Amino acid sequence: MSAEKFDVVIIGGGNAGIGVTGPVRRAGLSVAMIESRDLGGTCPNRGCTPKKVLVAAGQALHDIERAAQHRIAVGKPKLDWAALIAREKDMIKDIPENLARSMARRSVEVIKGHGTFAGPDSVRVGDRRLRASHIVIAAGSKPRPLAIPGAEHMVTSDEMLSESQRPESIVFIGGGVISLEFGHVYARAGSSVTILEALPQLLPAMDADAVARLQAESERIGLQISTGVRIERIEATGGRFRVIFTHGGTEKAAEADWVVNGAGRIADVESLGLAAGQVDHDNGRIAIDSYLRSTSNSRVYVCGDAVPTSPQLSPIATYEGDLAGRNIVDGPKHSPDYASIATAVYTVPALAAVGLTEAAVKAKGLAAEVHINDMHDWFSARTYAERVAWSKVIVDRASDRILGAHFVGHAGHELVNIFGLAMKFGISASTLREHIYAYPTFASDIKHILGPHLHSPPLSTQQPTGISRARVFARC
Ligand SMILES: Cc1cc2nc3c(=O)[nH]c(=O)nc-3n(C[C@H](O)[C@H](O)[C@H](O)COP(=O)(O)OP(=O)(O)OC[C@H]3O[C@@H](n4cnc5c(N)ncnc54)[C@H](O)[C@@H]3O)c2cc1C
Repeated sequence: MSAEKFDVVIIGGGNAGIGVTGPVRRAGLSVAMIESRDLGGTCPNRGCTPKKVLVAAGQALHDIERAAQHRIAVGKPKLDWAALIAREKDMIKDIPENLARSMARRSVEVIKGHGTFAGPDSVRVGDRRLRASHIVIAAGSKPRPLAIPGAEHMVTSDEMLSESQRPESIVFIGGGVISLEFGHVYARAGSSVTILEALPQLLPAMDADAVARLQAESERIGLQISTGVRIERIEATGGRFRVIFTHGGTEKAAEADWVVNGAGRIADVESLGLAAGQVDHDNGRIAIDSYLRSTSNSRVYVCGDAVPTSPQLSPIATYEGDLAGRNIVDGPKHSPDYASIATAVYTVPALAAVGLTEAAVKAKGLAAEVHINDMHDWFSARTYAERVAWSKVIVDRASDRILGAHFVGHAGHELVNIFGLAMKFGISASTLREHIYAYPTFASDIKHILGPHLHSPPLSTQQPTGISRARVFARC
């Protein structure tokens, strides 16, 4: 088999792989992209985008529940789950084809099939062998396999986004983002939802106070949550399943129609033939340098969920893909900086965050002001009859820079981007406080969220009606 030559071969046509194509095509390099499933990868086909359609339905149910607060009388809502899944599928159905057209416009040759390394500078797909100056691993992630007896009974987020019959009861193994987001939607739709988490805290990477608020609201809408559990086994019981777990030294059981793997995702690189590509890895965790380049094969870059050390988020995959592409064009010069990239858990209310948690600030020994506000009685929150509206913003004492911002509700998933922008471009807390925002908006609360500067006079005479005084703690 003679090899076809390309400047760049990309394994995977998701956010990361597509991100690579911009800089390398602008530089005129020839590119082949190998994709085994749907162009666009997880985010638009099996992740963010279809999930957000379900989240939006959950938000609508929440709004209906709160309608009486706006003096609107509504009957009991009835969600047609099969029709909702059909709506979700209909909204995303054209994405792979649109992306194929966009790749064709960029003169990227898309090859359908499963790519594997055939050597340090070549990839095999079907009966074709492609040689390249650079190979990019953008193969994404898969649900973390769990070594539990009965693990084969678990389903994943793929089924949660596809099955048109909603289960009456669900147990999520693991209390991460997927479990919380889907748990909220399914619980609001009427399913009984249980989350079993091994660690002491749900969403362990997020700020503990923010998670505590989200957990309380999750329990209020009916989620049954246990942390610090050990899963013993999953048993099939006549069409249903029983999860046996230990909690507080006692063996317990939870029964459900579905058991969902909510234990996070790992890089999906085992089937790439990494040894043939001379790509060093530790159990699927590819060793990379600060330029996203394999430490053992300098032709190979890794980006997106296949990177074992960066957050598995769609904008990060695109960003890393772009950086990998720029490093191919310019030589290894560009390193990722994740510090100001915001993230959100799309529960209702959403938990949103950027930067450091309070625990991380303490661990770094930084002197900081921590501004915590329960805003549910602020005028803006009351206007929208919000149940939960909470924020924590951490400001570096020495530089007045934002170190972290955390929200539950209060449009925090939008506001957090303003704080991310401030972090990236060195906008101080004082400047954010002084800025004039459109009013009335949630953003116009930022000056109160940041509280008075420590040297300002007390706020009591300056506050608009309905805005309680920000509590300023110097805790760190
Ligand atoms: C249910 C769910 C919800 C999510 N929600 C959000 C969200 O709200 N916000 C957010 O930021 N992120 C979200 N994410 C994460 C986000 O989807 C990922 O971070 C992002 O899609 C990663 O992009 P990627 O290009 O690295 O991988 P992928 O998008 O997974 O793309 C990898 C591609 O490589 C292909 N591939 C793999 N191996 C091979 C091979 N050997 N040969 C050929 N092709 C191959 C796969 O078929 C796939 O299409 C969610 C994820 C899930 C599962």
